Amino acid sequence: MLPPSLRVIERGWLNCNQVVMLSPGDNVLVDSGYCTHRERTLELLASPAGLDGQPLERLINTHCHSDHMGGNAAVVSAYGSLITIPAGEVKNVRPWTPQSAWMQEFDQRADPFHFDDTIDAGDSFEGGGFEWEVHAAPGHDMDALMFFEPVNRILISGDALWRDAMGFVWPEEGPNPFIDAARETLAAIERLRPAAVIPGHGAPFGNAAEAIERVRGKLDAFGRDPAKNARHVIKSMFVFALLDRHHMRLDEVGAYLAKVPCYGRLSERFLNRAPHSLATWLLEDLHRSGAVVVRDGIVRATSTA
Ligand SMILES: [Zn+2]
Repeated sequence: MLPPSLRVIERGWLNCNQVVMLSPGDNVLVDSGYCTHRERTLELLASPAGLDGQPLERLINTHCHSDHMGGNAAVVSAYGSLITIPAGEVKNVRPWTPQSAWMQEFDQRADPFHFDDTIDAGDSFEGGGFEWEVHAAPGHDMDALMFFEPVNRILISGDALWRDAMGFVWPEEGPNPFIDAARETLAAIERLRPAAVIPGHGAPFGNAAEAIERVRGKLDAFGRDPAKNARHVIKSMFVFALLDRHHMRLDEVGAYLAKVPCYGRLSERFLNRAPHSLATWLLEDLHRSGAVVVRDGIVRATSTA
């Protein structure tokens, strides 16, 4: 059970969850969702499940990926809030370019925004009448942060820990600094012993120890088999792109994969596949697992945006 001053607006996989921390005169929002769903984000924020008509003084990002900061500009134009980002993300959003936060590499978008200040591991901030400790959460994003409230032992984990997984980590042949960092983050979460975790995606959950074990198992498998890790990244990115575009024509998938840099790069390094054979494998795999449906030559993701 979360305290009533904390509200979690659960979204899907294109949009991260929004966490509203209510404290009159100092309301805080954690993460703003994806830019193309900005209207929906503002609607949910204004609703009784969110701010319920109250002002919003501050927006804080766990990390600057497009599904977490894509709605920053929309939130600021609606509420005039200040924006705080992780100190390590400054290099990724200033100056703002098409490749800010790797968007060109992945064919993603975000509305450009200006931040007002930064936070870093070791800092703390007030939210919902509680003091939140800021902890480093590298792995999926090496500059990500997570927020911990020690009285109720609540962790806002961003993409460092979900109930059954975590945000993808980059594959590497041999030693993998991203996997090592992710393991350290899991160990840090273990030491915090959260009673409740509010993840960046999916519903809040209680049993952090079990979630950590599940994620460790995945990281072990990815560490042993970088090609498996690369396939996971490719599948995650493509499902995200489908959610962004709503659907794609089956006969366009090969050209799409050839056009967006991350697929060719991963495929060349780890899978040794040409774009069209990559498309065949990808669609078969996603179809088999139920992640996409194909009807009348059109492919759609089955997950919630
Ligand atoms: Zn995310």
